[in-house]
Amino acid sequence: MTTIRLKDIDKSYEPGVKALDAVDLTIESGEFFTLLGPSGCGKTTLLRTVAGFIAQDSGQIFFDGDRIDHIPAYRRDTGMVFQDFAIFPHMSVADNLAFGLHNRKVPKKEIEERVGEALEMARLAGLGERMPDQLSGGQQQRVGLARAMVVRPKVLLMDEPLSNLDAKLRIELREDIRDIQKRLGITTIYVTHDQEEALVISDRVCILENGAVQQVGRPWEIYKNPDTHSVAAFVGTMNFIDARMEEGSGGHPATVSFAGHSIACQAAPCSSSAVIVAIRPEDVAIAGDHAEDSDGVSHLVGTVKKISFTGREAKYVLECEGGISLTVNVARPTLERLTGTGGKLKIALPHESLLFFDKKTQRRL
Ligand code: ADP
Ligand code: MG
Repeated sequence: MTTIRLKDIDKSYEPGVKALDAVDLTIESGEFFTLLGPSGCGKTTLLRTVAGFIAQDSGQIFFDGDRIDHIPAYRRDTGMVFQDFAIFPHMSVADNLAFGLHNRKVPKKEIEERVGEALEMARLAGLGERMPDQLSGGQQQRVGLARAMVVRPKVLLMDEPLSNLDAKLRIELREDIRDIQKRLGITTIYVTHDQEEALVISDRVCILENGAVQQVGRPWEIYKNPDTHSVAAFVGTMNFIDARMEEGSGGHPATVSFAGHSIACQAAPCSSSAVIVAIRPEDVAIAGDHAEDSDGVSHLVGTVKKISFTGREAKYVLECEGGISLTVNVARPTLERLTGTGGKLKIALPHESLLFFDKKTQRRL
């Protein structure tokens, strides 16, 4: 089991543009750690830097306290799984798995045993003699995974391994990857741009933006307590409302107002008076027509622009007072609320579910 320490890593491909910007992370032994962010944010660059395919401009990498960034990729003891499978097309499945073991001079008998075990674990038993082109996409990626694991690397690195598979296979295989990783306990860095995949599969998630770490946390911490506006916007769906913040009264540090509503706020007043109020669609409730604002709840009235009904829930898009557009998810919606668009709906914003961001710094207040 291996702890990975990335210390202050910088990388620029061209002067003035940082692909990695002072990345400083510790990945715990046995952890499933995911780099999440939009395309171009530096995920692949960071992963390949750990693997040794890319040299950082500055900073250091340690495996279990030993500095490894000056040693070549093939001696770092990492296993890599690629997006495009990258298995050898001219070799059988079993030979693909055995390849790395031959290279490491593992005895023949042990190679057979370990290949058999890996096939079993990746649910490829009985397919050892097949050639890659006789396998489905999902099976080919299982070979990619088995080939990386069979050498029992210190660290497993995966770069969007599911993005070339269809939706159903992605869900199936992500469960398998997670199960196998937990069973073997190999410290794993996983890259994806798919936020749902990251939340489901990871012990912890690191959000990257423009090469810089925005936030690191457990999936529910990232989802429930985003540190910045961009993390809130990138992970899950979030409603944002432009608002003003003023000095509070009566024991509250601040008052936030929008569309004629005032909310007592525990956050300290921010550098600018412009703030953004945020709330998740599932935290907005449909209210009775006569509901009134009270201490803990503000109400808005909106025109229903769109309803998407999935059976389990309904998603409403509302156009509210003051030009505020809101998405509301309602679990087990009642029939009378599903009659169509154009009608008015009163919704409740529980203050305890509201998050506040400084509009200037984009940071959470
Ligand atoms: P991601 O994997 O998150 O999509 P990358 O790590 O591939 O992001 O890229 C990060 C940034 O570095 C992007 O702006 C990309 O255009 C740039 N980049 C990546 N590889 C190279 C390269 N070989 N030469 C120049 N720029 C590159
Ligand atoms: Mg990439």
